[in-house]
Amino acid sequence: MDNILNLEKIVKIYGVNTKNPYKALHGIDLKITKNSFNAIIGQSGSGKSTLLNIIGTLDQATEGKVPFNDEDISNYSKEQLADFRNRKIGFIFQFHYLLPEFTAIENVLMPYQISKRPITEEVRERAEYLLDTVGLSKYKNTPSTQLSGGQQQRVAIARSLINQPDLVLADEPTGNLDSDSTESVYQLLREINKDLKTTFVIITHDRKVAEKADRIIELKDGSIYADITK
Ligand code: ADP
Ligand code: MG
Repeated sequence: MDNILNLEKIVKIYGVNTKNPYKALHGIDLKITKNSFNAIIGQSGSGKSTLLNIIGTLDQATEGKVPFNDEDISNYSKEQLADFRNRKIGFIFQFHYLLPEFTAIENVLMPYQISKRPITEEVRERAEYLLDTVGLSKYKNTPSTQLSGGQQQRVAIARSLINQPDLVLADEPTGNLDSDSTESVYQLLREINKDLKTTFVIITHDRKVAEKADRIIELKDGSIYADITK
């Protein structure tokens, strides 16, 4: 089967040149299948965010390779990497980080604007389609501060998809939401996974959520402890 990610022997040591280096990842081998929906679980401190940040090229592994769709990104300059990340990967964090002085649709368009391309009618329609998909078409011109927590997280989901990324990475995307919103946000992510064929890797502490994934990867002390594909 086609893999979008093929991590080899990923080691992460924080504070390499300090008195107290800390090995957060102990040689992780991990292949992720294209179009799959994956949950990463594990106790606090087990290395989940470290792994996700390395997959998302937000942080660098101390050792090991992170080829993406067979594209070797290891020698990219900072600018090349930022451009690559912007085009290929969508991010959803626990806190939505919307820009408060902008409307819902302006926030959705932000990752597109960062790449300095002009906003065409087609892109605007895509932003509207995504807001519609997350159930917020009525709120497209509402300032983000006037939306509820669940609605703001939905805007963040639409925003993560504006550049048609191959991969969406989410770090406890519902950690901040009540259980009803959590349920509907996950429902939504699964639908997007089906409809748009986007690959998802999601960190969650919620077992119920993880059980809906195609695959559950459990980390323990910086290693893969369990790996269950349904
Ligand atoms: P998780 O997301 O599973 O809670 P993290 O990946 O955030 O775990 O952290 C894994 C381990 O690495 C923890 O022991 C944490 O304290 C340590 N760690 C994380 N970030 C840093 C950092 N920037 N510097 C030093 N240690 C860190
Ligand atoms: Mg974390």
